[in-house]
Amino acid sequence: MDDKNFRFCRKCLTRDMISKDEYFKTLQELIANIPEDIKTAPELYEERLKTCTECERLADGMCGACGCYVELRAAKRANYCPYKKW
Ligand code: SF4
Repeated sequence: MDDKNFRFCRKCLTRDMISKDEYFKTLQELIANIPEDIKTAPELYEERLKTCTECERLADGMCGACGCYVELRAAKRANYCPYKKW
């Protein structure tokens, strides 16, 4: 896909977006390399992301409340939703 035909899904997570953009690849690599001792357990991580995908504040993979990429925010156990949804 060339860049002029690339379109964002405003309700998708970055991992679900089809793009040549290295930025999203780097974001996923960053998440994959979070140390296990501070990383969210896989089941809890998916619960958090499910909540985000159902939230009206999610747009382009980012939380409209805090500006974070939700996949990165949710991947660290100690982090929390600014609206206390998780
Ligand atoms: S972190 Fe909270 S407020 Fe932000 S998109 Fe996820 S559920 Fe919504």
